Amino acid sequence: MSILVVGSVALDTVETPFGRADDALGGSATFFSSAASLFGPVQLVGVVGDDYPLDALSFLAERGVDLAGLEQARGESFRWSGVYSFDLNTRETLETRLGVFADFEPKIPEAFRDAEWVFLGNIDPELQLGVLDQVYQPRFVACDTMNLWIDIKRDRLLELLRRVDLLLVNDAEARQLSGDHNLARAARWIMDRGPRYLIIKKGEHGAILFTPHSTFFAPGFPLEEVFDPTGAGDAFAGGFMGHLAQCGRLDDGDLRRAVIYGSVLGSFAVERFSVERFKDLSPEEIEDRVRAFREMTVFELPVDAGV
Ligand code: AMP
Repeated sequence: MSILVVGSVALDTVETPFGRADDALGGSATFFSSAASLFGPVQLVGVVGDDYPLDALSFLAERGVDLAGLEQARGESFRWSGVYSFDLNTRETLETRLGVFADFEPKIPEAFRDAEWVFLGNIDPELQLGVLDQVYQPRFVACDTMNLWIDIKRDRLLELLRRVDLLLVNDAEARQLSGDHNLARAARWIMDRGPRYLIIKKGEHGAILFTPHSTFFAPGFPLEEVFDPTGAGDAFAGGFMGHLAQCGRLDDGDLRRAVIYGSVLGSFAVERFSVERFKDLSPEEIEDRVRAFREMTVFELPVDAGV
């Protein structure tokens, strides 16, 4: 089943302690599609300027990403640049140049409007609401956001939360949104405002899934080489949604497994700059890492534990 994603398609300039990439492929929709398309078809809606190297996206088209909703407008593409600290856990945004993204109003092609699975990448909540007005009857809608929108578009964001099934945020965003430093209470606060499910990402320290009935924690996959954390969150979302759309169910076990696929796809994203790692990533490598994940996290209680 196809997934509709709406988000940024960017050119990123990224500096990490290990090197630098200039004007590399980036953006939430790009990272999401690179990961989700390893599970099934994806429909992408976004905008680029007339300076965008569209040919560089052909690997996505070859993998079943429908780019019919990718507008090319006159002007400069969205550009983001950032620099990472030595431990790669914090980053500073050096520049955000909106270019054609400033006037972006997502237009969902008729053929995409009956999407069952929808991912609203991190864009203005106003635009995310606009997307929901254009899709007919999605079965599952997930959305991302960021500190900027929590600051300046809080009311619209709260309106959006009433209309989505899942919110994915990092721990700082969950605290900022709820005004509570305690993550368990922050989670309850957020879920009381609409989303049935919530994922709080904690970077290399993993992610927590909250459902109405349970809480599930998955660690980050321990890697020896971490090169560039950009896009890990969107790749996580791509792996998570990709697995759900592929299995077509939303049982507790499916959601938990989807978190593992999210964590695994996020871990591949950081191994190279930009979306490079996804270009030759095979389903076998994904399954091997999922199995390794299970090996590292499963344990038995002693037989006399009485539980
Ligand atoms: P992540 O590391 O998962 O938070 O995603 C990083 C990606 O988000 C980069 O590729 C950027 O191009 C993109 N990005 C950064 N700031 C924004 C923004 N304000 N709106 C949309 N996309 C952004």
